[in-house]
Amino acid sequence: MSELSGKRVFVTGSGAGIGKAIAALFIERGASVVVSDRDEAAAASAATEIGAAGVANCDVTDESAVQEAISAAVAILGGLDVLVNNAGIEISSPLSQQSTDSFDHIYAVNVRGPFVAMKAAIGHLVESKGNVVNIASVAGVGGSPLLGSYCATKAALIQLTRVAAVEMRPAGVRVNAVCPGFADTSMVERLVPDFEAATQVPFGDLVAAKQGRLGTPQDIAEVCAFLASDRASWITGSHYILDGGLTAS
Ligand code: NAD
Repeated sequence: MSELSGKRVFVTGSGAGIGKAIAALFIERGASVVVSDRDEAAAASAATEIGAAGVANCDVTDESAVQEAISAAVAILGGLDVLVNNAGIEISSPLSQQSTDSFDHIYAVNVRGPFVAMKAAIGHLVESKGNVVNIASVAGVGGSPLLGSYCATKAALIQLTRVAAVEMRPAGVRVNAVCPGFADTSMVERLVPDFEAATQVPFGDLVAAKQGRLGTPQDIAEVCAFLASDRASWITGSHYILDGGLTAS
């Protein structure tokens, strides 16, 4: 039997990047997955490519849209065992130059989004004794120039994970987070020019020196699959650092 056989899964931001890789690997391991993204075309194409059970789109900043998407996913899947809060955005800017509105926006996506999704999913997860995997970042455990607001949101998501895990433990629901280092997605592509301008070091050299190579979305998906599976039944309130050693030195 496959690791995720019979698991019914909803993944936010799964039209591309790490979310799409999580959805694809979960399906490969036996899960039924509903794909969701704010980018409807990306979600439709990803769902077809990976053989998803369906699509239920939302922008995670819109609470009622999140509630509707989770209800739609539950209707498609016949319940919910796993919520993956993957949708997230980056902003690279020195704090002194960042607008307050853009700070509010990144918080709305990276923290409020997982918060409203967990609230919308919790009744279903209690019923199934399911679990949540939140995609945080090494930026939530260490500071990085230019990524002040991003670091703050990912630290907040780790704390939200801990509190949700403690509160939901009596109901048999697990909540964990993963903290990737630099992984090969469009998010990192967007960050490269600003990092190179700030450090005067080619990004490839920085990655080679600090974490060996870029992570792949599959590197991240592997650990998410384990955490979502019954093999991880004693693991809750944890955050797993997946960074090729970036934060070890
Ligand atoms: P990406 O930009 O390649 O893909 C993000 C996906 O999320 C896109 O399909 C996008 O349309 C969707 N999305 C963005 N905002 C959304 C919203 N408001 N509502 C719904 N969907 C939305 O990014 P990625 O690199 O795949 O990142 C995925 C997650 O992993 C994010 O939470 C990110 O912070 C985290 N992460 C990424 C890296 C990395 O190096 N790539 C490292 C650490 C953590």
